[in-house]
Amino acid sequence: MSGGTAMVIGTNLLTYDLGPTHPLRPERLKISWAMMDSYGLKSRLEVLQPRMATSDELLLFHSRNYVEKVREYSRRGYGLLDSGDTPAFKGCYEATSWVAGSSLFAAEAIMEGCVHHAFNLSGGLHHAYPDRAAGFCIFNDPALCICMLKMRYGCTRIAYIDVDAHHGDGVMYSFYSDPSVLNIDFHENGRYLYPGSGFPHETGKGEGEGLKINISLPPGTSDQLYIHAFERVVPPAIENYRPEIILLQSGADSHIGDPLAHLSITARTYSYIAASIHRLAHKYCGGRILVFGGGGYNLGNVARCWTTVLGILTESPIEDSTPPDWREYYKNLTGEDAPEKINEPPAETPEKLKVELDEVLKILEEGTCIGK
Ligand SMILES: [Zn+2]
Ligand SMILES: [Zn+2]
Repeated sequence: MSGGTAMVIGTNLLTYDLGPTHPLRPERLKISWAMMDSYGLKSRLEVLQPRMATSDELLLFHSRNYVEKVREYSRRGYGLLDSGDTPAFKGCYEATSWVAGSSLFAAEAIMEGCVHHAFNLSGGLHHAYPDRAAGFCIFNDPALCICMLKMRYGCTRIAYIDVDAHHGDGVMYSFYSDPSVLNIDFHENGRYLYPGSGFPHETGKGEGEGLKINISLPPGTSDQLYIHAFERVVPPAIENYRPEIILLQSGADSHIGDPLAHLSITARTYSYIAASIHRLAHKYCGGRILVFGGGGYNLGNVARCWTTVLGILTESPIEDSTPPDWREYYKNLTGEDAPEKINEPPAETPEKLKVELDEVLKILEEGTCIGK
């Protein structure tokens, strides 16, 4: 196999389950995968079975003490791994090792030349730090991939783009002075949303100065505003940096109506983001794109955003009307009516938000590599 797109997926990934009342539900993967199947995308993919990260791989990023702590809590099956958002559960060590291993496997499939693009829906646990869990994330699979790309494949220019509504703090601050990571993070302004970080004046330090780009978006940011910001930041940054691979954390909680966040974009923006990154990757880095699912807490939104992204990567058209068999599956699983269209009507763009966002872009053009 060459060219093409791989999906790492299997039932082991459903074991990352923080409990029946927790918003990060394993149904997110089921409903998304079912939608991808209904649109006929499965036949356009190399489907790879998950693998577990080894403890040596976890130690590429995490501290030995922390890995041991997760192992112990996992055996015990209760307790909190952070200050409240990330409960331990029986087998959590194995569950999060499946997620991390699958992201590593996706990275390997790309770097070994088997495929151009690879996707792990269950990945994108971007809040975890080397020595602690945070924000539903036990092991940080994007950070582990970055470490592996550097150490095993000798990569020196990795672009990490994060469009989850929450700031990807665990990735951003762990490579803050590292020039081998260009980190571009779009997120809702930290004054309003967890984890409360990622402001535009945070541009990296030392050799990493100018390579950390935090686009803090006002609540209510629409498709039009988001795309305006994306266009001003991402193409110039990628053109200047010339990465060897692009990593995309495609959290679906930036979609309008997410219960945990307050941005107002639709699947149109996810389509735009994926198309832009797809074009840039084929132009500058041999098409190498590694995608992680990330957050997203409205099941219909998650499926629509991720399917849209996969449609772009596999160059498959996605009809706006959602497939009837998928709507039925959705209803059976959730008891609720499924969305009938991929694209919600676009939100309006108040002038006030545009002024606020242009202030942010001005700071970024002065302080980061997009201005050079
Ligand atoms: Zn999020
Ligand atoms: Zn392609």
